[in-house]
Amino acid sequence: MAETVEQVGLEWDTPLFLTARTQFEQALPYASVPDRIAERLRYPERATMCSTPVQMDDDTWRVFPAYRVQHSSVLGPTKGGIRYDPHVTLGECAALAMWMTWKCALLRLPYGGAKGGVRCNPRDMSPAELQRLTRRLTSEMMSVIGPQEDIPAPDMATDEQTMAWMMDTYSMQKGYAVPEVVTGKPISIGGSLFRAEATGAGVVMVTQRACQRLGRPLGDQSCVVQGFGKVGSVAAEELVACGAKVVAVSDVSGGTYNPAGLDLHEVTDWVHEHRHDLIEYPDGESVTNEELLELPCDVLVVAALEEQLTEENAGDVKAALIAEGANGPTTLEADQIFAERGIPVLPDILTNAGGVTVSYFEWVQDLGRLFWSRDETRFKLRDMMTDAFDRVWHLSEEQGLTLRNAALVAGIREVAGALTARGIYP
Ligand code: NAD
Repeated sequence: MAETVEQVGLEWDTPLFLTARTQFEQALPYASVPDRIAERLRYPERATMCSTPVQMDDDTWRVFPAYRVQHSSVLGPTKGGIRYDPHVTLGECAALAMWMTWKCALLRLPYGGAKGGVRCNPRDMSPAELQRLTRRLTSEMMSVIGPQEDIPAPDMATDEQTMAWMMDTYSMQKGYAVPEVVTGKPISIGGSLFRAEATGAGVVMVTQRACQRLGRPLGDQSCVVQGFGKVGSVAAEELVACGAKVVAVSDVSGGTYNPAGLDLHEVTDWVHEHRHDLIEYPDGESVTNEELLELPCDVLVVAALEEQLTEENAGDVKAALIAEGANGPTTLEADQIFAERGIPVLPDILTNAGGVTVSYFEWVQDLGRLFWSRDETRFKLRDMMTDAFDRVWHLSEEQGLTLRNAALVAGIREVAGALTARGIYP
């Protein structure tokens, strides 16, 4: 007898994609989605894989695998980051693309989810090599990206410069400037004010709102932040700006801990001088990333990468509130343990949505060729994050759901409602 699709398993069926799929299944009973719509949404619409040849500085050539997965175009163009990381796989991109769909829908942005990446070690590559990789990648992906099709943005180890190279390569092939093809660009070529800070600032806007609801003002909390990149470093600064104490931060090398509170200006200067060596920061106690997650604190912000809070360490986490700056940092088993321990987890699709929200603002500004002030952008972001948080909190109380399930249900309902109205083509 012929095997069914489910029995064979598809190429993206990795543990991370199965986590994303299981979260979807767990939320479905509360979302009232017709079976045919649920079945459609279990699969990404399209996955592209290519190989990217790059001439290295020593004149050798290397070929890097690259992926772009587009999960849903029901609400509009797909949107999602591009990461450069040695662990990128098709399944990782598929999981992150699915989460992007729920995230955009939860924030009521007219987008679906996508994610892409190149399997490479960016720390071992020079800026010239990264530029050649990015330009060739953009050429390979010309037919699947575009301002009305799929709009990339920065993610792990990619930044404004990467987006500038992508925008330039795309524009040169079109013959005119197309700033709206990517977001997270430098201001000089159509980037939005406040985009660089948006994800980290959004994490803190959500955390602050949650603290208010829980009756524990953020200004009284001591916080630990894992990841000191684009998200974690801004989140740490914003926490301090709200009066909270940041007692530990980490990067890939490990972390530094000072129960009296870290001086973040000094830490930042140190990081800029000693690229990625936070564990050696002299004015704190050195801790590994594993130890950092179990330090005594009120709020733990996980802003590095996926699968950090697991069955092994969830029982030892001391924080009273967890904020997910990264995508997928908590495994299903850890989620269950936190629910049993009564530790609320502010879920990624809500908490780190500030980045894609200001990316949406950037795209709108680029399309209209009319630009907003920093204050206006920050104000609009707070409005949208607060509205999404309040809807999630309300649904969670009304239906007795964890905040993650409530956020998923809210996002899934938006997409499912639109797909039901449109119908599945033909
Ligand atoms: P980044 O590359 O700027 O920073 C990542 C940080 O994590 C760095 O400090 C790095 O040293 C650290 N890190 C890497 N590997 C680690 C490991 N094994 N253990 C501990 N720390 C490690 O990336 P980013 O943009 O800050 O993204 C961080 C997370 O936030 C990712 O999950 C990303 O998908 C998510 N995210 C980013 C944005 C955005 O706007 N940048 C938006 C939404 C979600």
